[in-house]
Amino acid sequence: MIRNLLLLFVVSAIAIACSTNAVTGRSQFKLLPEAELQQMAVTEYQSFLSSNKVVSTSNNRDAEMVNRVGQRIVGAVTNYYRQNNLASNLEGYQWETKLVQSDQANAWCMPGGKIVVYTGLLPISQNEAGLANVMGHEVSHALFGHTNERMSQTIAAQYGGSIVDAFMANKSSGTMRQLFGTAVGLGSQLGIMAFGRNQELEADRYGMIWSAMAGYNPQEAINLWQRMQAQSQGNNPPEFLSTHPGPERRIEQLQKHLPEAMKYYRPMGTSK
Ligand SMILES: [Zn+2]
Repeated sequence: MIRNLLLLFVVSAIAIACSTNAVTGRSQFKLLPEAELQQMAVTEYQSFLSSNKVVSTSNNRDAEMVNRVGQRIVGAVTNYYRQNNLASNLEGYQWETKLVQSDQANAWCMPGGKIVVYTGLLPISQNEAGLANVMGHEVSHALFGHTNERMSQTIAAQYGGSIVDAFMANKSSGTMRQLFGTAVGLGSQLGIMAFGRNQELEADRYGMIWSAMAGYNPQEAINLWQRMQAQSQGNNPPEFLSTHPGPERRIEQLQKHLPEAMKYYRPMGTSK
């Protein structure tokens, strides 16, 4: 009887935690309150900035570019959410973009809109449109609650029924902070591969759409992955390419979604 009740509790907790994403239409398992995650993100973001070297935008073209691309992507996202009556989904977002000095080829966006690009990514993203596609990808992880999903899975497995309580009580504990860091992609060699397979493909697809809306050619996402693939065929393939989904699979999926993104593409400098 108690076991059945417990089972009922777990099942209903899971049912409550399942929601459909308004943009992607995908059903998601998310246990953590978004506002709490955003609060945690602000703390982690500040702590990250104070222990890393932020590149100033004054007289630095790369930092200016990162800033500009960030603003355009955020502008596109905001318009899209407004036009589709989804503006409430962006509640609590306080967007910010920084370029940080680091050899790592990484970038991430935390829940609530704190975006960081590492200087080590720029040789791979190569041009402004390439960067836009990566940043659009990272922003999608935040928008679609991928961090929440990843944390929820881990916390559910570890804490069972008292999941949210456990999170609230331990929010500033080392374990939770580490879990958050992993779920954001803070420590990964390449932020564009930090998440699960479906999440990565979803972020790739919408990364192209936001880029196109922001005036950047979505084809650059494919060019980027072709560069990665070329690297992976050398004698010394970067380790991050051994994780899923592989470049081939991503290119195939990006090609499939390119026509959709092209519908939104207005090259910069053209009207309408
Ligand atoms: Zn990713």
